[in-house]
Amino acid sequence: MVLQDLGRRINAAVTDLTRSPNLDEKQFDSMLKEISNALVEADVNIKLVATLRTSIKRTAVYDELVKLVDPHAEPFKPRKGKPNVIMFVGLQGSGKTTSCTKLARWYQARGFKACLVCADTFRAGAFDQLKQNATKAKIPYYGSLTQTDPVIVAREGVEKFKKERFDLIIVDTSGRHQQEKELFAEMSQIQAAVSPDQTIMVLDATIGQAAEAQSRAFKDTADFGAIIITKTDGAAAGGGAISAVAATHTPIVFIGTGEHLLDLDRFDPRAFVSKLLG
Ligand code: GDP
Repeated sequence: MVLQDLGRRINAAVTDLTRSPNLDEKQFDSMLKEISNALVEADVNIKLVATLRTSIKRTAVYDELVKLVDPHAEPFKPRKGKPNVIMFVGLQGSGKTTSCTKLARWYQARGFKACLVCADTFRAGAFDQLKQNATKAKIPYYGSLTQTDPVIVAREGVEKFKKERFDLIIVDTSGRHQQEKELFAEMSQIQAAVSPDQTIMVLDATIGQAAEAQSRAFKDTADFGAIIITKTDGAAAGGGAISAVAATHTPIVFIGTGEHLLDLDRFDPRAFVSKLLG
């Protein structure tokens, strides 16, 4: 086969695919098959063609996944000189309290006057945990051992720190499950009380398939604008995170990479997908 013919066949195969009304894997495979046949007929080594075919497919999958998790929009950026309120929501044990402190520390290191408010009055020991984390990171905090209404604690804490001209006020809320209607209602009351500039949902990378339903439930109640994926240092590939992003159309902004205070990275779609595909 002459070179022009080969080019024509490849072009035709690609054009067929792009004109197809509903693009699916079968059509993609048939395009690849047509290109491979054309290459083999043009005397390209058959093994080489097989490798090429696998690699094209892999690249396409990679690109699509990156597209899926890429936020395509500039995530919320706090500005210094005004109070930016960030509220955290998520399941208990997802890594909320740890991530609140990590994020406060992240911005503190970048010149923000950051602080923490513990609005988790539900779990015994929650305030103690936040206090310990905050003290270690030298971050001012607010909470109450006696007040049982988290809405009041959240409002008081945010007001206090606004008066004290903090740039970044991070509000930690108690972990909840979607079945717990009252806790879900409380979460939206806290949100209404502190009017956050940004609500972040914390999602554990090990949650797997459940990520989609969980993130949808949270999105319906507390319309979060960003996601932090925790425990990406573990064995879980983090595929659930992709379903959560796709289901809620919400960008991942940071990832937790360990238990330590400094184990927080900006989310990088390419690095994340590369790890996912192994
Ligand atoms: P919360 O109930 O959502 O506030 O969760 P915690 O912040 O208490 O975290 C639950 C557990 O997960 C703790 O043992 C944390 O040290 C751990 N954890 C949080 N983030 C990460 C992470 O990125 N990597 C690892 N390996 N552990 C984490």
